[in-house]
Amino acid sequence: MARTLESWTRGEWWAADGYGVQVADAVTGEPVVTVSSDGLDTAATVAYAREVGGPGLRRGGFAERAGLVKQLALALKERRQELIELSARTGATAADASVDVDGGIGTALAFASMGAKQLPDGNVLAEGDAELLGRGGTFAGRHLLTPRRGVAVEINAFNFPVWGMLEKLAPALIAGVPSIVKPATQTAYVTQHAVRILAESGLLPDGALQLVCGGLGDLLDHLGGQDLLSFTGSADTAAKLRGHEAVTARSVRFNAEADSLNGSVLGPDAVPGTPEFELFADALVHEMTCKAGQRCTAIRRALVPEVLLDQVSEAVSDRLAKVVVGAPGAEGVTMGALVGPAQRGDVLAAVDRLKKAATVVVGGGPPPDVVGADAMTGAFMAPTLLRCDDPARAEPHAVEAFGPVSTLMGYRDPAHAVELLARGEGSLVASVVSYDADVVREVVLGTAAHHGRVLVLDRDDAGESTGHGTPMPQLVHGGPGRAGGGEEEGGLRAVTHHLQRTAVQAGPRVLDALTGPVP
Ligand code: NAP
Repeated sequence: MARTLESWTRGEWWAADGYGVQVADAVTGEPVVTVSSDGLDTAATVAYAREVGGPGLRRGGFAERAGLVKQLALALKERRQELIELSARTGATAADASVDVDGGIGTALAFASMGAKQLPDGNVLAEGDAELLGRGGTFAGRHLLTPRRGVAVEINAFNFPVWGMLEKLAPALIAGVPSIVKPATQTAYVTQHAVRILAESGLLPDGALQLVCGGLGDLLDHLGGQDLLSFTGSADTAAKLRGHEAVTARSVRFNAEADSLNGSVLGPDAVPGTPEFELFADALVHEMTCKAGQRCTAIRRALVPEVLLDQVSEAVSDRLAKVVVGAPGAEGVTMGALVGPAQRGDVLAAVDRLKKAATVVVGGGPPPDVVGADAMTGAFMAPTLLRCDDPARAEPHAVEAFGPVSTLMGYRDPAHAVELLARGEGSLVASVVSYDADVVREVVLGTAAHHGRVLVLDRDDAGESTGHGTPMPQLVHGGPGRAGGGEEEGGLRAVTHHLQRTAVQAGPRVLDALTGPVP
């Protein structure tokens, strides 16, 4: 019988009565844990965050809390191997797990460093200069930001159990707002282990972090105008949460990061033989196979000049033929399993929908060989490249197959590529792989309004490029429209998201005392 996964609430580990949802190992199918929050006192959990966590955190100032985040990240770094090994049960290879674990720790460290360097000691952050509001100079105004007095409820997707938590938690802690983290059920045991490490470090102020494994029950009913709700996951769940009374009637500050049909454009100049042609094919295969394609930022639509369709198809197929699917840690394996059979079922159903408009070039179903595991019990799938010869069709721009799947399409000219990118109705990221400055300019500026991030890849920046699929803590992560309409990360914007901006109007002497000198 699998153990019940405990939640961390009100300063202690708490286990639900009853069985809950059974979560199985993605590779062996063996039960790992059961997950349930039945019986959790949600009102008391929220109250504990507000009444114990918040005041405790705000006894320090921004800069001090940035130091705390650094220590917490270092505590995780010390025990990172435990998280990497546990992640194998979710189907992640060591390289996949590193993206999540080391990526999360690096993100927290980056926020800590930005906070320590750029934020003041206290709990008041002045924004911009004071504006004189009267001719005599006796009356002025300035924007002040102070920590909200509520709680940040952070709901995460299954694919990044560590990074997903840390990219939300670190800015909230620095802001002085306590968090209630709700991981996705499927990988909650990895998040829970990270929380256990943080709790055992003894560094966390009481109530600054609570973890709810399982459903949130009626927890959102207890949220009000000082609270925040940050969501990462599917567009369907985002829509449900956006319509919740807490958001619609009580103005809980809501942020959503949802699904996305990210595109990558190969420039017309990037013909076979150019470095950009190779970079494009390498990047596409990396995006398809990293975390078995279960990244919200993965390239779902590969847009190439019509005349290059065959050559790109061939180059990508050759690379995909070298991908070794199997158990994380088994000899030679380069792509692990999907998180579970249900996820594989969803991806295969999405591929079937895409096949109405596209043909399968490579893959499309179970992998021919699986190394180190039973292909029947593990959630394995072959990397799948589709080709759509009519890019005007709706499917490739609308169906997100959240697995190792990408669709190749041809475009006529850069304006057409920009038009096709826009058909994703708002995406997290686009990239353009080209060494032609005019093409790059047309695509970047033409598509910027539809994206939260645009990456240019060429022979000059490839060596240092962080890649299409990797959001950076210094830069905005999010996107308009279908991508959720939200913004996360983006440097200290992530911290100020948790603060209330207030226009304070007073005489210069008073403003001076509250903030800094009025010009
Ligand atoms: P999901 O089914 O929407 O679940 C996301 C989270 O929401 C989970 O923690 C889930 O908990 C929770 N949830 C579901 N229904 C809820 C409700 N009614 N009230 C409160 N919470 C609820 O998405 P997923 O399958 O985990 O993740 C895959 C999707 O996430 C993909 O579409 C991907 O593109 C997107 N994603 C986006 C980003 C981004 O940054 N934009 C990052 C990663 C993933 P349970 O697991 O307990 O149901």
